[in-house]
Amino acid sequence: KPTRRPLMAGNWKMNVNHLDAIALVQKLAFSLSEQELEAVEVVVLPAFTSLRSVQTLIDGDKLKLGYGAQDLSPHKPGAYTGDIAGSMLAKLGCQYVVVGHSERRAYHAEDDTVVAAKVKAALDNELTPILCVGEGLEVREAGEHVAHTVAQLDGALAGRSADEVGKVVVAYEPVWAIGTGKTATPADAQEVIGALRARLRESFGDSVADAARILYGGSVKPNNTAEIMAEPDIDGALVGGASLVADDFVAICRYQQ
Ligand code: PEP
Repeated sequence: KPTRRPLMAGNWKMNVNHLDAIALVQKLAFSLSEQELEAVEVVVLPAFTSLRSVQTLIDGDKLKLGYGAQDLSPHKPGAYTGDIAGSMLAKLGCQYVVVGHSERRAYHAEDDTVVAAKVKAALDNELTPILCVGEGLEVREAGEHVAHTVAQLDGALAGRSADEVGKVVVAYEPVWAIGTGKTATPADAQEVIGALRARLRESFGDSVADAARILYGGSVKPNNTAEIMAEPDIDGALVGGASLVADDFVAICRYQQ
């Protein structure tokens, strides 16, 4: 297994106001040692309204935590009321931005074309996209989950160079496992994530495929993280619900112990 630094990313979704965000980041920073934060990269993904507070705290105290946003506009700054440009996120010191989360796809009708434009907008602003792909229950029951998820990957990366794809983090999040308490078995997650890596190899070459970090997301909890992380192609987790509870997220980040 090529060495890829594990990445644990907490997707706070539409939770945690900016005051609670400060408290949550402080708890993470207080609990996790510098050594632990070297071994595992830990990232928080707050709502837009909390980013400035999180930036001030992390930068001011030189905390070894990363942060990013949950979405961005595909457009450059301009007349797009209510939207947030990648350049604004970069200016706030974000390293990461989630793109194509299943909740955006479902509630904001984001298709692969929009997702591809957002991946490009992220890369153009030197943000690392955390590109989410994953099938719904019907697709899984029809046995189409690998083909469906690989097609989402192809769609999102269409037009990108190998250099660009080398900067992308992928997250496999089966929709039926998000927020439901149903986790994919480690073998199920490995099946799809292995196929995603194989596709990266086919399309962009060995060095991109070997270096790319591919996360699993969907009801990751302290008690199932180690077995998921033991799979050869799984490099980390995108964590929703459990990332809102400091002790749980810390335990997830400590899965090796
Ligand atoms: C998510 O939506 O990114 C997610 C993984 O949520 P949860 O951990 O709550 O299933």
